[in-house]
Amino acid sequence: MSYHAWFQCTQCPDTRYALNEVIYHCRSCGGLLSVAHDMEALRHRSGSAWINLFDQRYMRNTYPYGSGVWGKKEMVCPEVADDNVVSMYEGGSNLFWAERLGRELGLPDLWVKQCGNSHTGSFKDLGMTVLVSMVNQMRADGLQIPAVACASTGDTSAALAAYCAAADIPAIVFLPKDKVSVAQLIQPIANGAITLSLRTDFDGCMRLVRQICDSEGIYLANSMNSLRIEGQKTVAVELVQQFDWQVPDWIIVPGGNLGNVSALGKGFLEMQAMGIIDKLPRIAVGQAANANPLYLSYRKNFEHFEPQRARATLASAIQIGDPVSRDRAIRTLRQFDGVVEQATEDELANASARGDRTGLFTCPHTGVALAVLIKLIERGDIRRDDTTVVISTAHGLKFPDIKVRYHQSDLADMGVVSRYPNQPVELDPDKDQVRSAICRALDDLART
Ligand SMILES: *Cc1c(COP(=O)(O)O)cnc(C)c1O
Repeated sequence: MSYHAWFQCTQCPDTRYALNEVIYHCRSCGGLLSVAHDMEALRHRSGSAWINLFDQRYMRNTYPYGSGVWGKKEMVCPEVADDNVVSMYEGGSNLFWAERLGRELGLPDLWVKQCGNSHTGSFKDLGMTVLVSMVNQMRADGLQIPAVACASTGDTSAALAAYCAAADIPAIVFLPKDKVSVAQLIQPIANGAITLSLRTDFDGCMRLVRQICDSEGIYLANSMNSLRIEGQKTVAVELVQQFDWQVPDWIIVPGGNLGNVSALGKGFLEMQAMGIIDKLPRIAVGQAANANPLYLSYRKNFEHFEPQRARATLASAIQIGDPVSRDRAIRTLRQFDGVVEQATEDELANASARGDRTGLFTCPHTGVALAVLIKLIERGDIRRDDTTVVISTAHGLKFPDIKVRYHQSDLADMGVVSRYPNQPVELDPDKDQVRSAICRALDDLART
């Protein structure tokens, strides 16, 4: 059986383009493109046969099929030859049973999908492996693509830089100055990417990179390029696989540019069409209250969508006021009986710290998702026996500056009152002093 995929316009679905064309919008109507698959070919194999195939490959050693993304290659990107795949063994991230946090929240079946445990520390690797592999294929076929570029809030740029460095393709990243963490800034620098620090916000970087890519023939790697969505959708497949192919009741994901929630939805719908699953989860998107255009639109039943100027938030990767994938995200939420909730700076920082106290090491965006989880439980939307998955989008080690300030109770300027601070105890190397400090600390712990 041969498998086939192409770009298809989301507004006028009869319009198709090859995946190796340099195109992001429909030439007839300007609509966003999405990747469509030959579903007839995919349905030729039964759901249980797909399950067997995916299980045989998962985390094994035949390149590139051990990768969580490329193990699902037929439904992701069959158009790239195995030799041209640029893979770093993406996916395969732990589905963490949040037993202690779940106990505290009265939710025994709570799980955290650790997408930040990956090569560059965020879920962006899942999509970037597909996009860079396609570029690698196009260059191998003789197409002139001088470089790949993206605007980023810090994680897309890290992923693009790493995959391009591995494949020896020039990368250019557009970053908003002082709006990404030091750890995120050093990632593309270390990988040798051309790193532009622009005195604007993400939305400003986005406008500029589109113009430059247009005029210079540089390939655009932002999520309006829907090749990335194909890689990111495998998180849906992988987490169902980790539940032995059972579908959870709820999935909570933080949203900024809204590509990830769209990808999640696409993954579930295609698994359903392929006979792999027979029900869908509900999806909740969490936004920072300081960057909440989707939340405001949701409150008005999605009748209007007002782009906004996003305000500063500790969840800097989702400080986006004019999300590219808003239409597909809204469509997804309608199909998945979705909800959108927001979290204030105080709520997201404390939820993140609370999760850390139970063995996680969360980024602030995961803090948004955890804060939303708490609200949905309190409201009775998520019930005690619901199987619930929180998508953790990045590794906490990318955001040490915020964590340090949190534990020093030094985030008042962001409106945060630290409820779970923990400070190192500085002492002389004296046994009695050390002993009494430990006794005091253990007493305090026993009281809380
Ligand atoms: C990109 C990113 C998000 C948001 O994903 P979108 O697809 O833009 O909605 C959330 N968290 C982290 C850590 C990210 O890097």
